[in-house]
Amino acid sequence: MRLIIMGPPGAGKGTQAKILVEKYSIPQLSTGDILRAAIQAKTPMGLQAKEIMARGDLVPDEVVCGIVSERLDSADAKNGFILDGFPRTIAQAEELDRMMEEKGIALDAVISLDVDADALVARIKQRAEESGGTRADDNEEVLRNRLEVYGELTKPLIAYYKKQGNVKSIDGMGSIEEVTSAITDALG
Ligand code: ADP
Repeated sequence: MRLIIMGPPGAGKGTQAKILVEKYSIPQLSTGDILRAAIQAKTPMGLQAKEIMARGDLVPDEVVCGIVSERLDSADAKNGFILDGFPRTIAQAEELDRMMEEKGIALDAVISLDVDADALVARIKQRAEESGGTRADDNEEVLRNRLEVYGELTKPLIAYYKKQGNVKSIDGMGSIEEVTSAITDALG
């Protein structure tokens, strides 16, 4: 199973991705997690990404496309994967199409989680409290920027994938379990 999970910050992508990892025995490829690990490890990529992520802006397309290209080649991704947080721009989606064509693989579905804006702010505030502030980008001002960036650069991807005919729109407003079963029903 080769999946993309999309949705605005706070929509529950990471939570659902982790559950789908277990259900389908596929790895979660989260560009956000990989970038945060690079920041922790103080690698050159981490140093480049740190300020950008703290502002809630997007890391350059070449950087994240490089991460994904490398991960798609790793042994654990041979039989499938779930991309979480990638692609985030049309350019990234086009590059992913190219990469997958080159590797002779195709997407099974793009899961799009729909949630309302007020719920997003509440969820992220809660996540910030629970995590004890370990994420530099989980505060209200940066969140507003992340939502703006999402609306401007990432949301258009839904139409991009609708044209390809593989979008599954899922109501993300229920409980974790409800959302999971809506996803698994949609995947058939
Ligand atoms: P969320 O799900 O809350 O949006 P992520 O962990 O997916 O958080 O991403 C956190 C940050 O990492 C983004 O705001 C951005 O700065 C950077 N990032 C992650 N994935 C990408 C990507 N595909 N392109 C550019 N920047 C990215």
